[in-house]
Amino acid sequence: MSAVCAPRTRRLLRLVAPRLTAAMLRNYSLDVSAAPLLRTQGYVDGRWVSAASVFPVLDPATGQEIARVSDCGPAEAKQAVDAAYKAFESWKRSTAKERSVLLRKWFDLMTLHKEDLAKLITFECGKPMKESLGEITYSASFLEWFSEEARRVYGDIVPSPVRDRKIFLLKQPVGVASIITPWNFPSAMITRKVGAALAAGCTVVVKPAEDTPLSALALAELAEQAGIPAGVFNVVPCSREKTPAVGQVLCTDPLVGKISFTGSTATGKVLLKMAADTVKKVSMELGGHAPFIVFDSADVDRAVAGAMASKFRNSGQTCVCSNRFLVQSGIYERFVDKLGQAMDAELRLGHGSDPQTTQGPLINSRAADKVLQQVSDAVSRGATVLRGGKRLHGSFVEPTLLVDVSTDMLCTREETFGPLVPVIRFETEQEALAVANSANVGLAGYFFSQDVSQIWRVAEDLEVGMVGVNEGIVSSAEAPFGGVKESGLGREGSKYGIDEYLEVKYMCLGNLNP
Ligand code: ADP
Repeated sequence: MSAVCAPRTRRLLRLVAPRLTAAMLRNYSLDVSAAPLLRTQGYVDGRWVSAASVFPVLDPATGQEIARVSDCGPAEAKQAVDAAYKAFESWKRSTAKERSVLLRKWFDLMTLHKEDLAKLITFECGKPMKESLGEITYSASFLEWFSEEARRVYGDIVPSPVRDRKIFLLKQPVGVASIITPWNFPSAMITRKVGAALAAGCTVVVKPAEDTPLSALALAELAEQAGIPAGVFNVVPCSREKTPAVGQVLCTDPLVGKISFTGSTATGKVLLKMAADTVKKVSMELGGHAPFIVFDSADVDRAVAGAMASKFRNSGQTCVCSNRFLVQSGIYERFVDKLGQAMDAELRLGHGSDPQTTQGPLINSRAADKVLQQVSDAVSRGATVLRGGKRLHGSFVEPTLLVDVSTDMLCTREETFGPLVPVIRFETEQEALAVANSANVGLAGYFFSQDVSQIWRVAEDLEVGMVGVNEGIVSSAEAPFGGVKESGLGREGSKYGIDEYLEVKYMCLGNLNP
Protein backbone atom coordinates (compact mmCIF):
# COMPACT_ATOMS: atom_id res chain seq x y z
CA MET A 1 0.00 0.00 0.00
CA SER A 2 2.75 2.48 0.93
CA ALA A 3 4.13 2.30 -2.63
CA VAL A 4 0.97 3.97 -3.91
CA CYS A 5 0.71 6.68 -1.23
CA ALA A 6 2.17 10.13 -1.69
CA PRO A 7 4.39 11.41 1.20
CA ARG A 8 1.59 13.69 2.42
CA THR A 9 -0.72 10.70 2.54
CA ARG A 10 1.77 8.71 4.56
CA ARG A 11 2.01 11.50 7.13
CA LEU A 12 -1.78 11.47 7.47
CA LEU A 13 -1.81 7.70 7.86
CA ARG A 14 0.22 8.05 11.03
CA LEU A 15 -2.35 10.43 12.47
CA VAL A 16 -5.11 7.85 12.37
CA ALA A 17 -2.99 4.86 13.29
CA PRO A 18 -2.43 5.03 17.04
CA ARG A 19 -0.12 2.34 18.28
CA LEU A 20 -1.98 -0.87 18.83
CA THR A 21 0.06 -3.72 20.16
CA ALA A 22 -0.74 -7.25 21.24
CA ALA A 23 0.60 -6.37 24.70
CA MET A 24 -1.86 -3.46 24.99
CA LEU A 25 -4.78 -5.66 24.02
CA ARG A 26 -3.78 -8.44 26.37
CA ASN A 27 -4.63 -6.17 29.30
CA TYR A 28 -8.23 -6.99 28.57
CA SER A 29 -9.71 -10.41 29.24
CA LEU A 30 -13.16 -11.51 30.29
CA ASP A 31 -13.27 -12.24 34.01
CA VAL A 32 -15.57 -15.23 33.99
CA SER A 33 -16.23 -14.95 37.73
CA ALA A 34 -17.62 -11.46 37.10
CA ALA A 35 -19.86 -12.52 34.21
CA PRO A 36 -23.00 -13.76 35.97
CA LEU A 37 -24.95 -14.29 32.73
CA LEU A 38 -22.28 -16.35 30.98
CA ARG A 39 -23.87 -19.66 29.92
CA THR A 40 -22.23 -22.24 27.70
CA GLN A 41 -24.86 -24.92 27.12
CA GLY A 42 -27.75 -24.96 24.69
CA TYR A 43 -31.20 -24.09 26.06
CA VAL A 44 -33.92 -26.53 24.99
CA ASP A 45 -37.35 -27.06 26.53
CA GLY A 46 -36.45 -24.98 29.57
CA ARG A 47 -33.28 -27.00 30.29
CA TRP A 48 -29.58 -26.31 29.79
CA VAL A 49 -28.27 -29.07 27.52
CA SER A 50 -24.76 -30.18 26.63
CA ALA A 51 -23.83 -31.50 23.20
CA ALA A 52 -21.25 -34.16 22.34
CA SER A 53 -18.61 -31.51 21.66
CA VAL A 54 -17.87 -27.85 22.26
CA PHE A 55 -16.64 -24.97 20.12
CA PRO A 56 -14.57 -21.97 21.16
CA VAL A 57 -15.79 -18.41 21.32
CA LEU A 58 -12.96 -15.95 20.72
CA ASP A 59 -12.45 -12.31 21.61
CA PRO A 60 -11.91 -10.83 18.13
CA ALA A 61 -9.64 -8.13 19.57
CA THR A 62 -7.12 -10.52 21.09
CA GLY A 63 -7.88 -13.91 19.59
CA GLN A 64 -8.12 -15.25 23.16
CA GLU A 65 -10.69 -17.93 23.90
CA ILE A 66 -13.36 -16.58 26.23
CA ALA A 67 -15.62 -19.64 26.48
CA ARG A 68 -16.35 -23.11 25.12
CA VAL A 69 -19.93 -23.55 24.10
CA SER A 70 -21.96 -26.73 23.44
CA ASP A 71 -21.82 -27.48 19.73
CA CYS A 72 -25.42 -28.44 19.07
CA GLY A 73 -26.13 -30.58 16.04
CA PRO A 74 -29.20 -31.67 14.11
CA ALA A 75 -30.35 -33.89 17.01
CA GLU A 76 -30.47 -30.96 19.45
CA ALA A 77 -32.07 -28.77 16.78
CA LYS A 78 -34.80 -31.36 16.27
CA GLN A 79 -35.36 -31.63 20.04
CA ALA A 80 -35.73 -27.87 20.16
CA VAL A 81 -38.22 -27.83 17.27
CA ASP A 82 -40.25 -30.59 18.94
CA ALA A 83 -40.19 -28.75 22.27
CA ALA A 84 -41.28 -25.51 20.59
CA TYR A 85 -44.07 -27.33 18.77
CA LYS A 86 -45.32 -28.85 22.01
CA ALA A 87 -45.12 -25.53 23.85
CA PHE A 88 -47.00 -23.80 21.02
CA GLU A 89 -50.17 -25.69 21.99
CA SER A 90 -50.42 -23.85 25.29
CA TRP A 91 -48.56 -20.62 24.42
CA LYS A 92 -50.96 -19.81 21.58
CA ARG A 93 -53.85 -20.16 24.06
CA SER A 94 -52.32 -17.81 26.62
CA THR A 95 -53.93 -14.38 26.63
CA ALA A 96 -52.26 -11.44 24.96
CA LYS A 97 -52.08 -9.80 28.37
CA GLU A 98 -50.25 -12.80 29.84
CA ARG A 99 -47.71 -12.76 27.02
CA SER A 100 -47.36 -9.01 27.37
CA VAL A 101 -46.59 -9.27 31.09
CA LEU A 102 -43.88 -11.90 30.51
CA LEU A 103 -42.24 -9.89 27.72
CA ARG A 104 -42.27 -6.85 29.97
CA LYS A 105 -40.57 -8.84 32.77
CA TRP A 106 -37.93 -9.98 30.30
CA PHE A 107 -37.40 -6.35 29.26
CA ASP A 108 -37.06 -5.29 32.91
CA LEU A 109 -34.46 -7.99 33.53
CA MET A 110 -32.46 -6.93 30.47
CA THR A 111 -32.49 -3.37 31.73
CA LEU A 112 -31.41 -4.49 35.19
CA HIS A 113 -28.51 -6.52 33.77
CA LYS A 114 -27.50 -4.23 30.96
CA GLU A 115 -23.86 -3.86 32.03
CA ASP A 116 -23.34 -7.64 32.19
CA LEU A 117 -25.09 -8.14 28.85
CA ALA A 118 -23.08 -5.35 27.22
CA LYS A 119 -19.82 -6.80 28.47
CA LEU A 120 -20.61 -10.11 26.75
CA ILE A 121 -21.23 -8.28 23.48
CA THR A 122 -17.95 -6.39 23.74
CA PHE A 123 -15.99 -9.57 24.37
CA GLU A 124 -17.57 -11.80 21.74
CA CYS A 125 -18.20 -9.20 19.03
CA GLY A 126 -15.51 -6.57 19.66
CA LYS A 127 -17.83 -3.55 19.93
CA PRO A 128 -16.79 -0.62 22.13
CA MET A 129 -18.57 -0.82 25.48
CA LYS A 130 -20.55 2.37 24.79
CA GLU A 131 -21.99 0.81 21.64
CA SER A 132 -22.66 -2.49 23.43
CA LEU A 133 -24.65 -0.62 26.08
CA GLY A 134 -26.49 1.13 23.24
CA GLU A 135 -27.23 -2.23 21.66
CA ILE A 136 -28.69 -3.58 24.92
CA THR A 137 -30.96 -0.56 25.23
CA TYR A 138 -32.00 -1.02 21.59
CA SER A 139 -32.37 -4.78 22.03
CA ALA A 140 -34.50 -4.47 25.17
CA SER A 141 -36.66 -1.84 23.45
CA PHE A 142 -38.05 -4.56 21.16
CA LEU A 143 -39.24 -6.61 24.14
CA GLU A 144 -40.84 -3.50 25.59
CA TRP A 145 -42.42 -2.52 22.26
CA PHE A 146 -43.81 -5.96 21.51
CA SER A 147 -45.03 -6.39 25.08
CA GLU A 148 -47.22 -3.40 24.20
CA GLU A 149 -48.08 -4.54 20.66
CA ALA A 150 -49.13 -8.01 21.91
CA ARG A 151 -52.38 -6.46 23.18
CA ARG A 152 -53.17 -4.66 19.94
CA VAL A 153 -53.54 -7.58 17.54
CA TYR A 154 -57.05 -6.91 16.30
CA GLY A 155 -59.05 -8.88 13.78
CA ASP A 156 -61.73 -7.37 11.54
CA ILE A 157 -65.45 -7.68 10.94
CA VAL A 158 -66.05 -7.04 7.26
CA PRO A 159 -69.43 -5.98 5.76
CA SER A 160 -70.74 -9.01 3.89
CA PRO A 161 -72.15 -8.80 0.34
CA VAL A 162 -74.67 -11.53 1.24
CA ARG A 163 -77.56 -10.85 3.66
CA ASP A 164 -77.39 -13.97 5.82
CA ARG A 165 -73.63 -14.09 6.21
CA LYS A 166 -71.08 -12.44 8.47
CA ILE A 167 -67.39 -12.14 7.62
CA PHE A 168 -64.83 -12.26 10.40
CA LEU A 169 -61.06 -12.04 10.07
CA LEU A 170 -59.07 -13.70 12.84
CA LYS A 171 -55.33 -13.19 13.41
CA GLN A 172 -53.59 -16.34 14.55
CA PRO A 173 -49.96 -17.19 15.31
CA VAL A 174 -48.05 -18.99 12.55
CA GLY A 175 -46.56 -21.66 14.84
CA VAL A 176 -42.91 -22.51 15.50
CA ALA A 177 -40.49 -19.90 14.19
CA SER A 178 -36.85 -20.64 13.39
CA ILE A 179 -34.78 -17.55 14.12
CA ILE A 180 -31.31 -17.38 12.55
CA THR A 181 -29.23 -14.36 13.51
CA PRO A 182 -25.88 -12.71 12.73
CA TRP A 183 -22.95 -11.70 14.92
CA ASN A 184 -22.99 -7.92 14.38
CA PHE A 185 -25.92 -7.27 16.75
CA PRO A 186 -25.77 -10.47 18.83
CA SER A 187 -28.60 -9.39 21.13
CA ALA A 188 -30.83 -6.98 19.19
CA MET A 189 -31.26 -9.18 16.12
CA ILE A 190 -32.72 -11.83 18.42
CA THR A 191 -35.15 -9.65 20.37
CA ARG A 192 -36.34 -7.80 17.25
CA LYS A 193 -37.62 -11.15 15.94
CA VAL A 194 -38.41 -13.01 19.16
CA GLY A 195 -40.29 -10.09 20.74
CA ALA A 196 -42.69 -10.05 17.78
CA ALA A 197 -42.94 -13.85 17.60
CA LEU A 198 -43.73 -14.37 21.28
CA ALA A 199 -46.16 -11.46 21.33
CA ALA A 200 -48.05 -13.03 18.42
CA GLY A 201 -48.25 -16.40 20.22
CA CYS A 202 -45.48 -18.19 18.30
CA THR A 203 -42.72 -20.22 19.94
CA VAL A 204 -39.12 -20.04 18.70
CA VAL A 205 -35.85 -21.87 18.15
CA VAL A 206 -32.94 -19.45 17.91
CA LYS A 207 -29.70 -20.33 16.14
CA PRO A 208 -27.24 -17.54 16.98
CA ALA A 209 -24.15 -16.84 14.88
CA GLU A 210 -21.19 -19.09 15.64
CA ASP A 211 -19.03 -16.08 16.63
CA THR A 212 -21.51 -14.71 19.18
CA PRO A 213 -23.57 -17.35 21.01
CA LEU A 214 -23.04 -15.90 24.51
CA SER A 215 -25.47 -12.99 24.14
CA ALA A 216 -28.17 -15.40 22.95
CA LEU A 217 -27.60 -17.74 25.90
CA ALA A 218 -27.65 -14.82 28.34
CA LEU A 219 -31.04 -13.89 26.89
CA ALA A 220 -32.20 -17.46 27.55
CA GLU A 221 -31.12 -17.19 31.18
CA LEU A 222 -33.14 -13.99 31.56
CA ALA A 223 -36.13 -15.48 29.71
CA GLU A 224 -36.16 -18.27 32.25
CA GLN A 225 -35.91 -15.80 35.15
CA ALA A 226 -38.78 -13.83 33.61
CA GLY A 227 -40.95 -16.95 33.68
CA ILE A 228 -41.23 -17.59 29.92
CA PRO A 229 -42.54 -21.19 29.89
CA ALA A 230 -40.33 -24.12 28.89
CA GLY A 231 -40.16 -24.71 25.15
CA VAL A 232 -41.30 -21.22 24.17
CA PHE A 233 -37.76 -19.82 23.73
CA ASN A 234 -35.02 -22.30 22.74
CA VAL A 235 -31.41 -21.62 21.76
CA VAL A 236 -29.20 -24.03 19.82
CA PRO A 237 -25.68 -22.61 19.50
CA CYS A 238 -23.41 -24.34 17.01
CA SER A 239 -20.07 -24.05 15.23
CA ARG A 240 -19.57 -23.06 11.62
CA GLU A 241 -19.10 -26.75 10.76
CA LYS A 242 -22.43 -27.81 12.26
CA THR A 243 -24.35 -24.82 10.89
CA PRO A 244 -25.53 -26.34 7.57
CA ALA A 245 -26.93 -29.46 9.28
CA VAL A 246 -28.66 -27.43 12.01
CA GLY A 247 -29.91 -25.00 9.37
CA GLN A 248 -31.34 -27.91 7.40
CA VAL A 249 -33.48 -28.96 10.39
CA LEU A 250 -34.60 -25.44 11.18
CA CYS A 251 -35.54 -24.63 7.58
CA THR A 252 -37.09 -27.91 6.44
CA ASP A 253 -38.75 -29.57 9.45
CA PRO A 254 -42.50 -29.71 8.75
CA LEU A 255 -43.23 -28.62 12.34
CA VAL A 256 -41.60 -25.24 11.64
CA GLY A 257 -44.03 -22.68 10.23
CA LYS A 258 -41.85 -19.62 9.88
CA ILE A 259 -38.23 -18.69 9.23
CA SER A 260 -36.83 -15.32 10.15
CA PHE A 261 -33.26 -14.65 9.11
CA THR A 262 -30.85 -11.73 9.30
CA GLY A 263 -27.54 -12.10 7.50
CA SER A 264 -25.89 -12.06 4.12
CA THR A 265 -27.89 -12.13 0.90
CA ALA A 266 -26.00 -15.26 -0.19
CA THR A 267 -27.03 -17.22 2.92
CA GLY A 268 -30.56 -15.81 2.75
CA LYS A 269 -30.95 -17.31 -0.73
CA VAL A 270 -29.81 -20.71 0.54
CA LEU A 271 -32.39 -20.58 3.35
CA LEU A 272 -35.15 -19.40 1.00
CA LYS A 273 -34.52 -22.39 -1.24
CA MET A 274 -34.70 -24.75 1.75
CA ALA A 275 -37.92 -23.09 2.93
CA ALA A 276 -39.53 -23.58 -0.48
CA ASP A 277 -40.07 -27.33 -0.19
CA THR A 278 -42.47 -26.98 2.72
CA VAL A 279 -43.66 -23.48 1.71
CA LYS A 280 -42.79 -21.79 4.98
CA LYS A 281 -43.54 -18.18 5.72
CA VAL A 282 -40.25 -16.24 5.60
CA SER A 283 -38.79 -12.92 6.69
CA MET A 284 -35.37 -12.04 5.32
CA GLU A 285 -33.28 -9.09 6.41
CA LEU A 286 -30.30 -9.32 4.08
CA GLY A 287 -27.34 -7.29 2.91
CA GLY A 288 -27.33 -3.61 2.06
CA HIS A 289 -25.13 -1.27 0.02
CA ALA A 290 -26.31 2.04 1.42
CA PRO A 291 -25.69 5.18 -0.63
CA PHE A 292 -24.86 8.34 1.34
CA ILE A 293 -25.49 11.34 -0.92
CA VAL A 294 -24.34 14.86 -0.10
CA PHE A 295 -25.94 17.49 -2.33
CA ASP A 296 -24.51 20.98 -2.87
CA SER A 297 -27.25 22.47 -0.69
CA ALA A 298 -26.36 20.27 2.33
CA ASP A 299 -25.26 21.59 5.69
CA VAL A 300 -21.73 20.22 5.46
CA ASP A 301 -21.19 19.86 9.21
CA ARG A 302 -24.40 17.88 9.59
CA ALA A 303 -23.43 15.73 6.64
CA VAL A 304 -20.04 14.98 8.18
CA ALA A 305 -21.63 14.13 11.55
CA GLY A 306 -24.12 11.87 9.75
CA ALA A 307 -21.34 10.18 7.79
CA MET A 308 -19.33 9.52 10.96
CA ALA A 309 -22.36 8.04 12.73
CA SER A 310 -23.59 5.92 9.86
CA LYS A 311 -20.19 4.67 8.71
CA PHE A 312 -18.15 3.96 11.80
CA ARG A 313 -20.68 2.40 14.17
CA ASN A 314 -19.48 -1.13 14.97
CA SER A 315 -16.41 -0.36 12.81
CA GLY A 316 -18.62 -0.28 9.73
CA GLN A 317 -20.12 -3.70 10.38
CA THR A 318 -23.85 -3.05 10.14
CA CYS A 319 -26.11 -3.77 7.19
CA VAL A 320 -27.33 -0.16 7.23
CA CYS A 321 -23.83 1.36 7.28
CA SER A 322 -23.20 3.83 4.48
CA ASN A 323 -21.20 2.05 1.85
CA ARG A 324 -20.97 4.44 -1.10
CA PHE A 325 -20.45 8.17 -0.54
CA LEU A 326 -21.71 10.28 -3.44
CA VAL A 327 -20.74 13.93 -3.08
CA GLN A 328 -21.77 16.74 -5.44
CA SER A 329 -18.87 18.66 -6.95
CA GLY A 330 -19.78 22.05 -5.38
CA ILE A 331 -19.39 20.72 -1.82
CA TYR A 332 -16.92 17.90 -2.49
CA GLU A 333 -13.66 19.49 -1.25
CA ARG A 334 -15.22 20.86 1.95
CA PHE A 335 -16.94 17.57 2.77
CA VAL A 336 -13.83 15.45 2.20
CA ASP A 337 -11.62 17.84 4.20
CA LYS A 338 -13.98 18.00 7.15
CA LEU A 339 -14.65 14.27 7.13
CA GLY A 340 -10.92 13.56 7.23
CA GLN A 341 -10.53 15.96 10.16
CA ALA A 342 -13.43 14.32 12.02
CA MET A 343 -11.87 10.89 11.48
CA ASP A 344 -8.56 12.12 12.91
CA ALA A 345 -10.25 13.74 15.89
CA GLU A 346 -12.92 11.20 16.79
CA LEU A 347 -11.76 7.70 15.93
CA ARG A 348 -9.58 5.64 18.20
CA LEU A 349 -8.83 1.97 17.73
CA GLY A 350 -8.51 -0.37 20.67
CA HIS A 351 -10.14 -3.03 22.78
CA GLY A 352 -13.84 -2.40 23.28
CA SER A 353 -13.36 -2.47 27.04
CA ASP A 354 -11.13 0.60 26.92
CA PRO A 355 -13.46 3.60 27.44
CA GLN A 356 -11.39 5.62 24.92
CA THR A 357 -12.04 3.13 22.10
CA THR A 358 -14.44 4.04 19.33
CA GLN A 359 -13.27 1.43 16.82
CA GLY A 360 -12.95 -2.21 17.78
CA PRO A 361 -11.62 -5.02 15.60
CA LEU A 362 -13.49 -6.54 12.69
CA ILE A 363 -15.16 -9.81 13.62
CA ASN A 364 -12.42 -12.01 12.15
CA SER A 365 -9.51 -11.97 9.75
CA ARG A 366 -11.71 -12.87 6.74
CA ALA A 367 -13.61 -9.63 7.35
CA ALA A 368 -10.35 -7.65 7.50
CA ASP A 369 -9.07 -9.35 4.32
CA LYS A 370 -12.22 -8.27 2.47
CA VAL A 371 -11.77 -4.59 3.36
CA LEU A 372 -8.11 -4.62 2.37
CA GLN A 373 -8.94 -6.34 -0.89
CA GLN A 374 -11.43 -3.57 -1.68
CA VAL A 375 -8.83 -0.92 -0.83
CA SER A 376 -6.12 -2.43 -3.03
CA ASP A 377 -8.59 -2.99 -5.88
CA ALA A 378 -9.65 0.67 -5.66
CA VAL A 379 -6.06 1.92 -5.55
CA SER A 380 -5.13 -0.25 -8.53
CA ARG A 381 -7.97 1.42 -10.47
CA GLY A 382 -6.94 4.97 -9.62
CA ALA A 383 -8.35 5.76 -6.14
CA THR A 384 -6.26 7.73 -3.63
CA VAL A 385 -5.96 6.85 0.05
CA LEU A 386 -6.43 10.00 2.17
CA ARG A 387 -6.62 8.28 5.55
CA GLY A 388 -5.82 4.79 6.81
CA GLY A 389 -5.70 1.90 4.35
CA LYS A 390 -3.80 -0.60 6.46
CA ARG A 391 -4.43 -3.54 8.68
CA LEU A 392 -3.05 -3.15 12.17
CA HIS A 393 -2.87 -5.89 14.76
CA GLY A 394 -5.05 -9.01 14.08
CA SER A 395 -8.33 -8.04 12.48
CA PHE A 396 -8.07 -4.33 13.28
CA VAL A 397 -8.33 -2.20 10.13
CA GLU A 398 -7.61 1.52 10.06
CA PRO A 399 -10.57 3.77 9.31
CA THR A 400 -9.95 4.51 5.65
CA LEU A 401 -10.91 7.43 3.42
CA LEU A 402 -10.63 6.89 -0.34
CA VAL A 403 -11.15 9.60 -2.97
CA ASP A 404 -11.10 9.53 -6.79
CA VAL A 405 -13.38 6.54 -6.54
CA SER A 406 -15.31 5.31 -9.59
CA THR A 407 -18.22 2.95 -10.01
CA ASP A 408 -16.13 0.15 -11.52
CA MET A 409 -14.32 -0.46 -8.23
CA LEU A 410 -15.17 -3.42 -5.97
CA CYS A 411 -15.91 -1.11 -3.02
CA THR A 412 -18.74 0.54 -4.95
CA ARG A 413 -20.14 -2.74 -6.27
CA GLU A 414 -20.31 -4.86 -3.12
CA GLU A 415 -21.01 -4.41 0.58
CA THR A 416 -17.83 -3.66 2.57
CA PHE A 417 -18.76 -4.40 6.20
CA GLY A 418 -15.76 -2.45 7.43
CA PRO A 419 -14.48 1.09 8.16
CA LEU A 420 -14.03 2.21 4.54
CA VAL A 421 -15.34 5.49 3.10
CA PRO A 422 -15.14 5.50 -0.71
CA VAL A 423 -16.06 8.93 -2.10
CA ILE A 424 -17.45 9.35 -5.63
CA ARG A 425 -17.85 12.84 -7.11
CA PHE A 426 -21.05 13.61 -9.06
CA GLU A 427 -22.54 16.57 -10.92
CA THR A 428 -26.33 16.12 -11.12
CA GLU A 429 -29.14 14.69 -8.98
CA GLN A 430 -30.07 12.26 -11.78
CA GLU A 431 -26.52 10.99 -11.93
CA ALA A 432 -26.43 10.39 -8.14
CA LEU A 433 -29.76 8.58 -8.20
CA ALA A 434 -28.68 6.40 -11.12
CA VAL A 435 -25.55 5.30 -9.23
CA ALA A 436 -27.44 4.83 -5.95
CA ASN A 437 -30.17 2.74 -7.58
CA SER A 438 -27.83 0.63 -9.68
CA ALA A 439 -27.37 -1.83 -6.80
CA ASN A 440 -29.33 -5.10 -6.74
CA VAL A 441 -30.00 -4.50 -3.02
CA GLY A 442 -31.83 -1.66 -1.28
CA LEU A 443 -31.82 -1.60 2.51
CA ALA A 444 -30.97 1.87 3.85
CA GLY A 445 -30.04 5.08 2.03
CA TYR A 446 -29.07 8.52 3.31
CA PHE A 447 -28.90 11.96 1.81
CA PHE A 448 -28.21 15.49 2.95
CA SER A 449 -29.94 18.46 1.34
CA GLN A 450 -31.63 21.67 2.47
CA ASP A 451 -33.78 21.91 -0.65
CA VAL A 452 -37.34 20.85 0.23
CA SER A 453 -38.41 19.82 -3.25
CA GLN A 454 -35.19 17.89 -3.73
CA ILE A 455 -35.75 16.16 -0.37
CA TRP A 456 -39.16 14.92 -1.46
CA ARG A 457 -37.99 13.89 -4.96
CA VAL A 458 -34.94 11.97 -3.79
CA ALA A 459 -36.70 10.32 -0.83
CA GLU A 460 -39.32 8.98 -3.23
CA ASP A 461 -36.89 7.89 -5.92
CA LEU A 462 -34.25 6.11 -3.84
CA GLU A 463 -34.79 2.35 -4.15
CA VAL A 464 -34.39 1.43 -0.48
CA GLY A 465 -36.58 0.34 2.41
CA MET A 466 -35.37 3.06 4.81
CA VAL A 467 -34.17 6.55 4.05
CA GLY A 468 -32.38 8.94 6.38
CA VAL A 469 -32.80 12.59 5.31
CA ASN A 470 -30.22 14.80 7.03
CA GLU A 471 -29.84 11.91 9.48
CA GLY A 472 -27.24 9.13 9.67
CA ILE A 473 -28.95 6.73 12.10
CA VAL A 474 -32.57 5.77 11.63
CA SER A 475 -33.34 2.53 13.51
CA SER A 476 -35.86 2.37 16.35
CA ALA A 477 -38.39 -0.13 17.64
CA GLU A 478 -41.24 2.14 16.50
CA ALA A 479 -40.19 2.27 12.82
CA PRO A 480 -40.29 -0.58 10.28
CA PHE A 481 -36.88 -2.05 9.47
CA GLY A 482 -36.38 -3.85 6.17
CA GLY A 483 -35.35 -3.60 2.57
CA VAL A 484 -36.38 -3.88 -1.06
CA LYS A 485 -34.84 -5.81 -3.98
CA GLU A 486 -32.36 -8.44 -2.76
CA SER A 487 -32.17 -6.81 0.69
CA GLY A 488 -35.01 -8.99 1.81
CA LEU A 489 -38.63 -9.69 2.55
CA GLY A 490 -40.79 -8.31 5.33
CA ARG A 491 -40.39 -5.70 8.04
CA GLU A 492 -39.24 -5.91 11.66
CA GLY A 493 -40.16 -3.69 14.59
CA SER A 494 -43.00 -1.16 14.34
CA LYS A 495 -46.70 -2.01 14.18
CA TYR A 496 -45.94 -4.13 11.08
CA GLY A 497 -43.35 -6.45 12.67
CA ILE A 498 -45.88 -8.64 14.45
CA ASP A 499 -47.72 -9.38 11.17
CA GLU A 500 -44.75 -11.48 10.09
CA TYR A 501 -45.76 -14.01 12.77
CA LEU A 502 -49.51 -13.95 12.17
CA GLU A 503 -51.84 -15.56 9.66
CA VAL A 504 -55.17 -14.01 8.74
CA LYS A 505 -57.98 -16.55 8.90
CA TYR A 506 -61.22 -15.68 7.15
CA MET A 507 -64.27 -17.08 8.93
CA CYS A 508 -67.60 -17.00 7.13
CA LEU A 509 -70.62 -17.43 9.40
CA GLY A 510 -73.49 -18.34 7.08
CA ASN A 511 -77.22 -19.16 7.00
CA LEU A 512 -78.00 -16.70 9.76
CA ASN A 513 -81.52 -15.93 8.46
CA PRO A 514 -82.96 -19.26 7.27
P1 ADP B 1 -21.54 -14.06 7.70
O1 ADP B 1 -20.93 -14.17 6.33
O2 ADP B 1 -21.40 -12.77 8.30
O3 ADP B 1 -21.20 -15.18 8.63
P2 ADP B 1 -24.08 -15.29 7.22
O4 ADP B 1 -25.23 -14.74 6.50
O5 ADP B 1 -23.44 -16.49 6.62
O6 ADP B 1 -23.09 -14.10 7.41
O7 ADP B 1 -24.47 -15.64 8.71
C1 ADP B 1 -25.62 -15.19 9.37
C2 ADP B 1 -26.22 -16.34 10.14
O8 ADP B 1 -26.57 -17.36 9.21
C3 ADP B 1 -25.27 -17.01 11.14
O9 ADP B 1 -26.02 -17.40 12.28
C4 ADP B 1 -24.79 -18.22 10.38
O10 ADP B 1 -24.38 -19.27 11.22
C5 ADP B 1 -26.07 -18.59 9.66
N1 ADP B 1 -25.91 -19.50 8.53
C6 ADP B 1 -24.96 -19.51 7.58
N2 ADP B 1 -25.17 -20.55 6.72
C7 ADP B 1 -26.28 -21.20 7.14
C8 ADP B 1 -27.02 -22.35 6.71
N3 ADP B 1 -26.65 -23.05 5.65
N4 ADP B 1 -28.10 -22.72 7.42
C9 ADP B 1 -28.49 -22.02 8.50
N5 ADP B 1 -27.85 -20.94 8.97
C10 ADP B 1 -26.76 -20.53 8.30
